[in-house]
Amino acid sequence: MLPYSTITEAEVALNRTLTFAETLWYNYSANKSDYFLYCHNILFLFIVFSLAPLPSAVMELLRSSNFGRYKIQPKVKLSFSEMFSCYQTVMKLFFLVVGPLQLVSYPSVKFIGIRTGLPLPSVWEILMQLVVYFMVEDYTNYWIHRSLHCKWGYEKIHKVHHEYTAPFGFAAPYAHWAEILILGIPSFLGPAIVPGHMITFWLWVALRQIEAIETHSGYDLPWSPTKYIPFYGGAEYHDYHHYVGGQSQSNFASVFTYCDYIYGTDKGYRFQKKLLAKLKEESGNGCQQNVGSYYISWQDLKAD
Ligand SMILES: [Zn+2]
Ligand SMILES: [Zn+2]
Repeated sequence: MLPYSTITEAEVALNRTLTFAETLWYNYSANKSDYFLYCHNILFLFIVFSLAPLPSAVMELLRSSNFGRYKIQPKVKLSFSEMFSCYQTVMKLFFLVVGPLQLVSYPSVKFIGIRTGLPLPSVWEILMQLVVYFMVEDYTNYWIHRSLHCKWGYEKIHKVHHEYTAPFGFAAPYAHWAEILILGIPSFLGPAIVPGHMITFWLWVALRQIEAIETHSGYDLPWSPTKYIPFYGGAEYHDYHHYVGGQSQSNFASVFTYCDYIYGTDKGYRFQKKLLAKLKEESGNGCQQNVGSYYISWQDLKAD
C-alpha cells in the first residue's frame, strides 16, 4: 500500500514527476496491501511451473531430428503421461507446500525490509541485486545439496528429486516436501542480506525457478542465451548429477560451476566429459560439438 492518495502527492514527496514505470506501479499497487502484493508470487510460481517446462516437453514429444540431437540422454524417451504425472505431483506439492509457505512467510519478508513503495529501483540496481541473490543462493544451495547426499539425507529426503535419472523441465520442482522447505532458505538468504523492492523479489523468485527448469530440461541447446553467462552450469552440467544419481559426488551447485571447481566436486564430471569427447572423435562423430549428441552420451560411458 502506498502512503500517497494521489499521483500528485507522490510527485511532491519525490520532488519530481513519476517515470512511466512508477506511474504504472502507482496505479497498480496504491490500494493493494503489501501482503497481497507479496502473495503474487503464488500466481507467478504457478505460471512458471506450468508454462516454462512446455518448450522442452514439446521437443521431447516431437523428438524430430532437429531437436533430438540436443537431447542429453537420447536413449530416454519420455511420454506425455510420464511428464503429466510428474506435473500432477508438482501441483500437489505446489498447493500443499509451496503456496502455504508463501502465505505464512510474509512476516519474514516484512522483517528483512522488502519495500513496495516509490521510487522504483533502477534497472542497474535490480540487476546487481539479482546477481547477489544468485551467487548467495548458489553457494548456500551447494552445501545443503551436498549434505543431502549423505546416506541419511539421501535416503530420507533427496532420493525423491533423483527419481528421474534423465531430468526434464517439469521435474525441476519435483522433490520431497522437506527439501522444498529446506531449499527455501538459500533462496531467501540473498534478499535478506541485500533487501530490495518487491518487483526485484518477484523477478528473483520467477527467474530462479526458470533457471532450475532450464537446468533440468534434458536438452543442451547451443543457442541458449545462458551460454553467455560466465561460470553458468546449465542443463548438461546438472543432467550429469542426475544421471549418476545417489552415489553422485559431482556437480552439486544449482546455478554456477565455480563451487564444484573450488571444492573439487567436478572431477568425475570433467573426466567423463573428456572421455565422451574422445569417444565421439574416435567414432567419427566429433563434428558434433554438443557433449550430449544424439549418438553418444553419458549413457555410453561407465559413470563414476
Ligand atoms: Zn542431488
Ligand atoms: Zn535436479
